[in-house]
Amino acid sequence: MDLARIEAAVREILLAVGEDPTREGLQETPARVARMYSEVFASLGKQAEEVANYKTFHVEERPEMVLVQDIPFYSMCEHHLLPFFGVISLAYVPNDRVIGLSKIPRLVDYVTKKPGMQERVTTELLAELDRLLAPAGVAVSVAARHMCMEMRGVHKTGQFTYTSKFSGQFATQEALRQEFLQQVRTHHDQL
Ligand SMILES: [Zn+2]
Repeated sequence: MDLARIEAAVREILLAVGEDPTREGLQETPARVARMYSEVFASLGKQAEEVANYKTFHVEERPEMVLVQDIPFYSMCEHHLLPFFGVISLAYVPNDRVIGLSKIPRLVDYVTKKPGMQERVTTELLAELDRLLAPAGVAVSVAARHMCMEMRGVHKTGQFTYTSKFSGQFATQEALRQEFLQQVRTHHDQL
């Protein structure tokens, strides 16, 4: 990532909005913003495996369903470069491989640390789990608040937008999909 170029661009934006980038409070701002972007866009242009090791394990006694609830995430909308954030719940029905539970938040980080959209976070996470585990099915549910809806535009505050996406058995079996959604909803209502 070209930090010097981000710094120059941020200084330019400050001038364009009528600020004085030489005043005390703003002197370090371009450099801070550049460092922040390198952190919040850390997975841009990378493959999942470049960010973490997603080793999978063979299991003899395979669980019927692995469900992970409410993994927090923070991302930046590609339309306004404002944050959207919330929680992701996901489930998969293994074929014969599982992934370490600590890897799942890493995978969530991977799909959210770049300019994006909630819909694409949902579909990319589903695709990565399908690719890494070749499971019998995957379910992903994302609940997020969007600062571009709350700070500007329609000014709807505190509202969650929900997206979900299913593959394999979750897509073909209504009962399994409902079981997942019911668990996610019950859990979310308790938050
Ligand atoms: Zn936006």
